[in-house]
Amino acid sequence: MPTIREALRRAAARLTAAGVPEALNDAALLLSHVTGEPPLNLRADGSRELPAKDAAAFEALVDRRAGREPLQYILGEAPFMGLLLKTAPGVLIPRFDTEALCQQALDRMTGDERVLDLCTGTGALAVAIGKYFPRARVFAGDISPRAVELARENAVRCGAQVDARLGDLFAPFGGDAFDIIVSNPPYIPTGDLAGLQEEVKKEPALALDGGPDGLALYRRIAAEAPAHLAPGGWLLLEIGSGQAADVSGLLAANFEEISVYSDLNGLDRVVAGRKK
Ligand code: GLN
Repeated sequence: MPTIREALRRAAARLTAAGVPEALNDAALLLSHVTGEPPLNLRADGSRELPAKDAAAFEALVDRRAGREPLQYILGEAPFMGLLLKTAPGVLIPRFDTEALCQQALDRMTGDERVLDLCTGTGALAVAIGKYFPRARVFAGDISPRAVELARENAVRCGAQVDARLGDLFAPFGGDAFDIIVSNPPYIPTGDLAGLQEEVKKEPALALDGGPDGLALYRRIAAEAPAHLAPGGWLLLEIGSGQAADVSGLLAANFEEISVYSDLNGLDRVVAGRKK
């Protein structure tokens, strides 16, 4: 039987060779997933032997990670706004960057707003908003059946009230009017998809591909959102690198108080506009 230290060292070497960026960190998280012990305990007290059954289960997970499967798909969960959301292949993994968008929505709320999250994916934004403002009426939409299912599951898992519906953008929401609409739509230009990190390429193109210039969904949302916003309602959008000016421009016709906010890395990440 290997010791924990040997198993971690071997796994980290294997992951490094496969090009995984944070090999030892990932190895410790995968081993923690197998044994149930916190990763730091495993790293601090590595002289214990690892039972053969655990060693075999660990190796199977390391194999998957060496194939550049995203860590969060293997672990089956990812943190977002202090919540732990279920993840699943076929649905985009929640990103820390998106917390900047969530915060802008929360900052504009007092309690009983009607909120819509378009392209909800795992339900991250809708679930976090519903969790922190339990009296809000929170709706979520996605064109992917797997995403809608997962968003519903995450709402239950986190104890948030979210009405998640299947359909193309506003289609499932008829003539409803919202106080806040948030969205992290697909925004990567189609031509850039092939150059993405291996892990991101294992995520669904449906959640990433923003058309030839990356702006296809913003054009539709900017055009359709005014009919679904209450007077003075806010539209809050996550954006990709270099898109702040273009997306602000798309909002100019129907929105005022247009502003850009950055994420924790200091990159422009959110465009906000208030319905005129
Ligand atoms: N932030 C994601 C990435 O860069 C893209 C998500 C999206 O298109 N909305 O991988």
